[in-house]
Amino acid sequence: MTYVFPAPATPSVAVSGSALRFPVRRIFCVGRNYAEHAREMGHDPHVEPPFFFTKPADGVVDSGATIPYPPATADLHHEAELVVALGSGGAFLPEDAALSLVWGYAAGNDLTRRDLQAAAKSARRPWDMSKAFDRSAVIGAVQAYGIGAQPEGAIRCTVDGVVRQQAQLSDMIWPVAAIIAHLSRLVILQAGDLIMTGTPAGVGPIAPGQTCEVTIDGLAPATVTVG
Ligand code: MN
Repeated sequence: MTYVFPAPATPSVAVSGSALRFPVRRIFCVGRNYAEHAREMGHDPHVEPPFFFTKPADGVVDSGATIPYPPATADLHHEAELVVALGSGGAFLPEDAALSLVWGYAAGNDLTRRDLQAAAKSARRPWDMSKAFDRSAVIGAVQAYGIGAQPEGAIRCTVDGVVRQQAQLSDMIWPVAAIIAHLSRLVILQAGDLIMTGTPAGVGPIAPGQTCEVTIDGLAPATVTVG
């Protein structure tokens, strides 16, 4: 194939303990997957099936980066999330087959322009410009996991060392297998797809100059400093 200009590089994220990179095909995100966060955003956590939005693959940011404060917002928020990295694809998967697609897991931060999201919600407009902006997906190094094995324990988020979010991964309304099964009924999942699985309660602002770190037991942290 010859293109009219050089094709863009494949977006990728780090792999724990390796010089190899994990190539990113798409980024899917789950909305409202922890009951306390659903309530803090004004929703009943028990009436809705999981819903999804996306970020561009080239929105990924490696842990340790410093990013500029995003344009068009005065309310950049952190959202600590478990990230699922798929190593193979499929469609219409039953839950008991869904975990066979997983290559590994990472800690992630679903950066959000909360003021734009609130405006979009009230106007019934799309979320893209609040969620899918440049450098909006901070992803820690992906840790390979054997089939069916999953991270367990705590997920937390600190801003300049102060704990903002803290929960157990077992608090997720929709576990990883259910998320993959649901999503596979909407799109044909592919190797390289990342799924950000939703955030616990305690979302809040990151001010210019602050450092935000997402940690999950057993995984490398996802840290970002906002310039
Ligand atoms: Mn999120």
